[in-house]
Amino acid sequence: MEENEKITALLNNFDVEKENIYKKVIPTVQELIVEQLRPDEKDLLKWKTSSRGRFDFRDYLNSRSCKNFSEVHLDALWRYYLGNVNVQRSKLIIEQYKLLNKRNENCAHCSSIENLQVDHKIPLVKGGLDTIENLQFLCGTCNLEKHGRYDYKELII
Ligand SMILES: [Zn+2]
Repeated sequence: MEENEKITALLNNFDVEKENIYKKVIPTVQELIVEQLRPDEKDLLKWKTSSRGRFDFRDYLNSRSCKNFSEVHLDALWRYYLGNVNVQRSKLIIEQYKLLNKRNENCAHCSSIENLQVDHKIPLVKGGLDTIENLQFLCGTCNLEKHGRYDYKELII
């Protein structure tokens, strides 16, 4: 292969990789936002009652984290902060996830293969998305521990 072709192939692949990496880290980034970058109640109240609320919210997130958020994730976070979260789980997404990971079924936390359940990395009630990227397998024990961890955390709304 010509040197130029190699470089072109590498760059093309890099784009694919970038997309994959982004999909993998997005749940973590979103959780970080929920935990670390959450606006104070005064700002929230101000945005909620203004017509520019959602835009100011995006500007605030971008200025705090130096990152441009996709509209989908921004929307999920905004709904979360409004206290207007859709907690209806899509059974189809969960079935798709199981199908895609049929050969790789073990707990994301302890690698156990016992009593596996499909879990949302960021719970839907915290603004997590009902997408394949936000799903993982957890064993019953780890899932229980995780619920305990989230239950005592105070929600801002
Ligand atoms: Zn486990």
